[in-house]
Amino acid sequence: MGFIGSTAPDWLEVAWWSRSRRLWITHRTLTHWGLAWIALLFYSYEQLGKSTPAPLGVGFAIGGLMHLLADWPNPLGVPWLCCRHSLNWWKSGRCDLLVVAASWIGAFACADYVWFHGIHCAWIMECVRSATR
Ligand SMILES: [Zn+2]
Repeated sequence: MGFIGSTAPDWLEVAWWSRSRRLWITHRTLTHWGLAWIALLFYSYEQLGKSTPAPLGVGFAIGGLMHLLADWPNPLGVPWLCCRHSLNWWKSGRCDLLVVAASWIGAFACADYVWFHGIHCAWIMECVRSATR
């Protein structure tokens, strides 16, 4: 669901019901609205243990938020609350490797924290500390 969610803000813009398959909405507007993705994440997370599809919603929402975080640095930006905001760091497709690497590091840190109480991240930080002394 994370993968599907990570592509959702873009494919939700496509008019799949039409023959032309054009966008039914302006690029990076409603489908990239950060507040809606955050609300979906909080609602799905709150439903964990109460509703069977809740974990799917959490994965979908996290994927969608990752998409917004990846779109945020380029000039068009993302409408987090009401107006678009851009970090203006690079153009689309320029630093994909950096975004993917940062995502994997974040996923590793989250998995380490949830399943291993952060022992691997603590070990890595200790190695970095001792190497810089
Ligand atoms: Zn996008």
